[in-house]
Amino acid sequence: MSSAVLVVGSANADLVVPVERRPGGGETVLGGDTTLSPGGKGANTAAAAGRLGADVALLGAVGDDSYGRLLRDSLAAAGVATGHLRTVGRPTGIAYITVTPDGENSILVSPGANSALEPGDITDDVLDGVRVMVTSLEVPLPTVEHAVARASAKGVRVLLNLSPAAEVSRETLGALDVLLVNEHEAAYLLGTAGADPRKLLELGPRAAVVTLGAKGAVVVEADGSTEVASPKVEAVDTTGAGDAFAGALAASLAEGATLVDAAKRAVKVAAVSVTRHGAQPSYPTPDELE
Ligand code: ATP
Repeated sequence: MSSAVLVVGSANADLVVPVERRPGGGETVLGGDTTLSPGGKGANTAAAAGRLGADVALLGAVGDDSYGRLLRDSLAAAGVATGHLRTVGRPTGIAYITVTPDGENSILVSPGANSALEPGDITDDVLDGVRVMVTSLEVPLPTVEHAVARASAKGVRVLLNLSPAAEVSRETLGALDVLLVNEHEAAYLLGTAGADPRKLLELGPRAAVVTLGAKGAVVVEADGSTEVASPKVEAVDTTGAGDAFAGALAASLAEGATLVDAAKRAVKVAAVSVTRHGAQPSYPTPDELE
């Protein structure tokens, strides 16, 4: 039961409510109709890779409830193997998202079942035959750090999407083949906004990719950095764009692409995703990239 790409990460139900303004403490505000959709950084990343045709599995945890079943169905529809997706005795993680008319999101995550993902879940046989492991936060940090260490020791290519930003050890950063961050996460790591992305390599990873929203991304490797421009598109919803990028990057790396070529494909995939609503439902198949 091995896949070329293994994603270790979260699975959440996204509950999205449009609001004119957010309530303050002790206040009640009426919002618009709720939209429910499958989300979570891990599940999104796996779904993006699966939609592209990658041989991909998600190692994660959901609850024995309707949201857990929604996630399983969505992952299966995207071609993601769910043999390592455990059902545990806690509710499926939920992201409560309010969106104001200016398009700004405000998100509260209740991790629920994601918190049950333990270092002991990352066994050697889970990593057998895996070419690329991609992991992100929203699951316990010790689990992420253990997954990185085990995969790296086994010679699996390791990609960490450090999102949401968290304080990871030097050891973990040093075990990474690719550190993937957006501009805010890069600023968090480097202690200042707008710093030279090449400085990320001083933290230990062999390569780094910084996503730059509508501008695309920059790939930093030991022998230099490469700017990868995004196609110009009319963005309607950027939810899950970073996860689309991560999934596409991992899928291409597992096929043997160079990091720059993988990033060139990832900006195309992420650009399509922002022209459609939602996270997982917005991810394209290879045909839709043309
Ligand atoms: P999100 O939190 O929205 O999932 P992020 O903050 O992790 O995303 P971004 O750098 O904003 O990361 O976006 C990730 C990638 O998505 C970018 O590198 C780019 O390829 C694509 N993208 C995001 N916004 C746009 C846009 N407006 N037009 C085209 N591509 C976009």
